Amino acid sequence: MMQLYNSATRKKEEFQTHTPGHVEMYTCGPTVYHFAHIGNLRSYIMEDVLEKSLRYTGYDVNRVMNITDVGHLTSDADEGEDKMLKGAKRENKTVMDIAKFYTDAFFSDCEKLNIKTPDVVQPATGLIDDFIHMVEGLIEKGFAYFAGGNVYFDTSKLNRYYVFNDHNEEDLAVGVREGVEEDTNKRNKNDFVLWFTKSKFEDQALKWDSPWGVGYPGWHIECSGISLKYNGEYLDLHCGGIDNAFPHHTNEIAQTESFVGHEWCKQWFHVHHLNTNSGKMSKSKGEFLTVSLLEEKGYDPLVYRMFCLQSHYRKGLVFSWENMDNAVGTFNKLIGRIANLKPGDDVDQAVFDELKAKFVAALENDLNTAQAMTAVYDVLKAKTTDATKLALLADYDYVLSLNLLEKAEAKRQENAKAATAKTEGGYTIVGEGDPAIDALVMQRYEAKKAKNFAEADRIRDELKAQGIEIVDVAGGAQWKKI
Ligand SMILES: [Zn+2]
Repeated sequence: MMQLYNSATRKKEEFQTHTPGHVEMYTCGPTVYHFAHIGNLRSYIMEDVLEKSLRYTGYDVNRVMNITDVGHLTSDADEGEDKMLKGAKRENKTVMDIAKFYTDAFFSDCEKLNIKTPDVVQPATGLIDDFIHMVEGLIEKGFAYFAGGNVYFDTSKLNRYYVFNDHNEEDLAVGVREGVEEDTNKRNKNDFVLWFTKSKFEDQALKWDSPWGVGYPGWHIECSGISLKYNGEYLDLHCGGIDNAFPHHTNEIAQTESFVGHEWCKQWFHVHHLNTNSGKMSKSKGEFLTVSLLEEKGYDPLVYRMFCLQSHYRKGLVFSWENMDNAVGTFNKLIGRIANLKPGDDVDQAVFDELKAKFVAALENDLNTAQAMTAVYDVLKAKTTDATKLALLADYDYVLSLNLLEKAEAKRQENAKAATAKTEGGYTIVGEGDPAIDALVMQRYEAKKAKNFAEADRIRDELKAQGIEIVDVAGGAQWKKI
């Protein structure tokens, strides 16, 4: 059985679902005002591993994610600037252009990291009527009030304002932010906005009619509204970065449970921060770390995925270029070992089952991905046929999603090419296995040796005309098709 740490109870618990065998899963999606930071993407990678682990161990999963394209203020609470508007101003574009551009960029990053797209992806701007309906319901039930042009959730009406226990009164006070003007319309300091018609930024681009005037929804209501619509009234698993626990998730719980009148979600899964040696990563300090930056520096995004898998999602992970270089070394060695396996023998089912059980146990142990990676090495070390090993690795890779077999195949082809290296008279030609080309490269070498440079150049041009590039290296030459 899957055991997961639950932020709501602060314990590792057996994962239970409202309907046996079926998981209703919700993930807080990105605010699409900028490129995703690889620290945020760590959460999406681990949530992807969680979803795939559930499917792998036999659950059927309905996963829903929002896209925040309105209402998310820079402070996470109700003060500050609108993040979307800030992005639009920075780039001199409309808010909808910004949303489209960065939504596409987010999914492109996800694809490079082998993160599966959730079953339902809903931009907040597409569901405004549902949010209005929910706010109306909360007012009717006495959990919300209208003051100074905005609708607020009244936290004093709750038996308990749920705060994930990690937060005490002091944290709450900080959560409400020092240095930010207090909103005098609020009856209680933790009350939060469900619907804005008045805010500090009058030039809010996206506005809708509502019973309370023209305005826009608060950030928290969107996740509750979207989840209720696509996951139903009983959510099994809610995910997000640890940053979202307070106030976002706390407020989601308050408003959703008040609206539906019963407990909403039992299991809360939070992924911890990616840090640098100098502390928590911040977008405002130094390099803005994106998937594109990794690629520009020559790192395969899947190496970053493996780097995340090597540590537990509830521990802070330290990012540095040195750590990435180590991960590259580990990844290449791993692929090299898999490339040496020879397919074709029989799969030993008993060994397969025995080893697979270890991998499943690692995943079911609060998604212990580091242990799951160890299970990969256990396969490589096992005394069994290569076919059994390859079958196991293909099976594990459904969850790990590191393209282990595809990359090993590419490596095998590379090795096969290298194996076509031909040495004659101390001169080694490494090519792509075409003896006619090898012969021309050798003729060019002979011409050069005889100081017939015109002939050597003629052969180089002839090869070039055939789309062949030659690179002279110590003790020989390499050629490849370009
Ligand atoms: Zn959310």
